Amino acid sequence: MDSIGTLQILSTQMTFEPDGEPHVSRFAPTPDCFSPKERDQAFVHPAQLPNGQKIMLLKTLLSSACERDCFYCPFRAGRDFRRATFKPDEFAGLFSKLNQSGAAEGVFLSSGIAGGGIRTQDKLLATAEILRKKYQYRGYLHLKIMPGAEKDQVYRAMQLADRVSVNLEAPNTERLARLAPHKIFMEELLRPLKWVEEIRRSVPAYKFWNGRYPSTVTQFVAGGSDESDMELLTTTNWLNKNVRLKRAYFSAFHPIRDTPLENKPAIDPMREHRLYQASFLLRDYGFDLEDLPFTSASNLPLNADPKQAWAQMYLIEKPIEINIADKRELIRIPGIGLKGADAILNARRLGKLRDLSALKKLGIIAERAAPYVLFDGRKTPQQLGLPW
Ligand code: SF4
Repeated sequence: MDSIGTLQILSTQMTFEPDGEPHVSRFAPTPDCFSPKERDQAFVHPAQLPNGQKIMLLKTLLSSACERDCFYCPFRAGRDFRRATFKPDEFAGLFSKLNQSGAAEGVFLSSGIAGGGIRTQDKLLATAEILRKKYQYRGYLHLKIMPGAEKDQVYRAMQLADRVSVNLEAPNTERLARLAPHKIFMEELLRPLKWVEEIRRSVPAYKFWNGRYPSTVTQFVAGGSDESDMELLTTTNWLNKNVRLKRAYFSAFHPIRDTPLENKPAIDPMREHRLYQASFLLRDYGFDLEDLPFTSASNLPLNADPKQAWAQMYLIEKPIEINIADKRELIRIPGIGLKGADAILNARRLGKLRDLSALKKLGIIAERAAPYVLFDGRKTPQQLGLPW
């Protein structure tokens, strides 16, 4: 099999891995369908970087061979499907060509585990080294940290990559045991995330790629271990505060044929959406866990935006005065995000905001904010039951 054939298999398989980079398509056609240029482009997908830049990202495994047996995973040992493996120099050379042709502007590299986490991490690191040193690749690189990797390997990954990730998959030891009985939550998964933060705190930024610390993300299989949203968000909140997690990704569980969980029902994708909304409220909007509208089963309601649900409980009787509120208060109002709050604060320097149309002019979704705001003591038409 040539390198493109290997890439076709591995990048297609990677689309099964719930993950991180948004907008990754599940479409991966066969190589023969395309001209050489189209064929290269078939393996990359649009993605948005942490700084907002949009790039074409190649997302692939170095190897789909794996010796572990996580219950939800299509790559688990013993499952019958066609596996493929790149050598580090083979992948680095291929990616460099794709990059130079303009087909791929960034890469996210993960792997199944073969020969232990340490040995597998060595291969990922060797690939990254070849890319950065031999091919002088300066673009975006996201490297996965393998379960059981050593601290020195984590440090080296941080020196080479723009982003590193450790997939926790479940929110705690007990829940992980239901998904991946041979992964050790504290030692193999959480500890590397803590190391990343320890290293960031103790090593100056100039020692890292491009003089910047890499960001850190993780991922959970939402609903895979019958965990509650509260458990997932408690761990996410802890990670935000203690290891400066850039983002938690939630991937709604869906059963994979020929795995121990193949008969477990798929989780509603709306749950994934609500978890994202709640995690952003915790990370960026000053919400605490106690503010979130958990049900008696400790889950978020699927039929309500959590910010809206909070506002219905706390703001409907006590609307916020748009011309006085500080940023912390403004961003609690549905329809007003971080940029919208800044726009309100700037506009107030020039004069009072008189009504909903003033919010609309600032790009705010005024209809959503209407039940929860006052303009110098005046209620909005919506609060008065009037047409508007
Ligand atoms: S370690 Fe587990 S989750 Fe990762 S590829 Fe292997 S079986 Fe899948």
